[in-house]
Amino acid sequence: MADTDTIAAIASAPGAAGIGVVRVSGARVPAIAQALLGRAPQPRHAHLASFLDDGGALIDRGLLLHFPAPHSYTGEHVLELQGHGSTVLLDLLLKRVCALGARLARPGEFTERAFLNGKLDLAQAEAVADLIAARSEAGARAALRSLDGVFSQRVHALLDAMIALRVHVEAAIDFPEEEIDFLADPAIAHELDALRTQLAALLAETRRGVRLTDGLKVAIVGRPNAGKSSLLNALAQSERAIVTAIAGTTRDVLRETVSLDGAVLELADTAGLRETHDEVEREGVRRARAELARADLVLLVTDVAHADVDPDLLDELPTHVARLVIVNKIDLETQPPRAEMHAGLPHLWLSARTGEGLDLLRAELKTRAGLGSGEGAFSARRRHVAALERVQTHLDHAAAALAATRAGELAAEDLRHAQHALGEITGSYSSDDLLGAIFGSFCIGK
Ligand code: GDP
Ligand code: ZN
Repeated sequence: MADTDTIAAIASAPGAAGIGVVRVSGARVPAIAQALLGRAPQPRHAHLASFLDDGGALIDRGLLLHFPAPHSYTGEHVLELQGHGSTVLLDLLLKRVCALGARLARPGEFTERAFLNGKLDLAQAEAVADLIAARSEAGARAALRSLDGVFSQRVHALLDAMIALRVHVEAAIDFPEEEIDFLADPAIAHELDALRTQLAALLAETRRGVRLTDGLKVAIVGRPNAGKSSLLNALAQSERAIVTAIAGTTRDVLRETVSLDGAVLELADTAGLRETHDEVEREGVRRARAELARADLVLLVTDVAHADVDPDLLDELPTHVARLVIVNKIDLETQPPRAEMHAGLPHLWLSARTGEGLDLLRAELKTRAGLGSGEGAFSARRRHVAALERVQTHLDHAAAALAATRAGELAAEDLRHAQHALGEITGSYSSDDLLGAIFGSFCIGK
């Protein structure tokens, strides 16, 4: 590794706290530790030390721990200094460490070094950031599983199967003039089929992992006065959205983050989609459309008195967005709360006002947010889903090439691209821009 300068940062959160941690990583760590302690520290031993400034005045008394390379978080020599959790003292300690030859670390630089030194792959490094930023218990658990390599192992299993298939296909291409048509071998088609099935399962779990990490994005749409704002309020149990009986009052998109038993929901109440000549409302409609394109799930809110779903609205929804029709205001017709399929769409009957049937909706939202469907969920990012979708496209092309014309070269080319896309997840293929974007979004000291 070319970048061997020694980096330092305050690794604990800013503000007063019981203890605070300065973390140092790099080749100069042994010398810095020796200078701070007055002697060489024992590996992985908590030494009580008096941290002195350049002039010999006491900064703080605390613990000094040395993790010699390569058995450390970054794979380099790492030093951890634990002092009192005061921003002033920690700044002085950091200054002292820099005077002894370290420089300030960039955000995520410790984890970036861990990645570059092979301690973590890229998906695991991302899981570190997701673990720190987790907003729910389920999200934190899932991030920990990804950090443990659960997601990476799944990607590697797929990669192994793909490489085995490539070997077969490329071997078949190498004997074009033979009597036997190797590409017609049903084993190759079967292997490719199995690979596509394996990928589809991983893609579904990865999408769930994104929902656990990012939260489920839910857009609430419907005609004015259907009860969109009331539903948002009922779910958020607050009065965040303004509820009035005058049509068209919710002019902007209102957002609310709701935690349902450890699942995170990002709710957005839109102004509804309808033709209007009012300038402000038109902007509202434009924003509502943009919101829909980003959603994982759209709640189509209708009123029990005229429970119709706008067919234009359904046409407008991107195909990847799941839909759930909410038949609201059942209290007006004393109908029981229930869940049923109608015209191929799931419908839920409830009342945002009385709260009847809301439990059905909450349960549904929790399931869709990635909770409830068992153990072993791992965290993931949208970038991983995008990469897997590219893998899927390439495998589809490869299958078509083999089936239609036994075009071995085309299939092999697609398999190569697929392998490349998979490698982007774990970082075996990655650009500097991608690494910069990923590690730049970390906090300092991690
Ligand atoms: P939006 O325009 O779709 O956001 O609708 P609002 O949430 O602002 O509600 C419009 C009107 O319907 C308000 O007067 C609400 O109090 C009323 N409303 C909303 N939900 C219910 C419900 O479940 N039952 C009854 N009876 N009225 C409701
Ligand atoms: Zn509203």
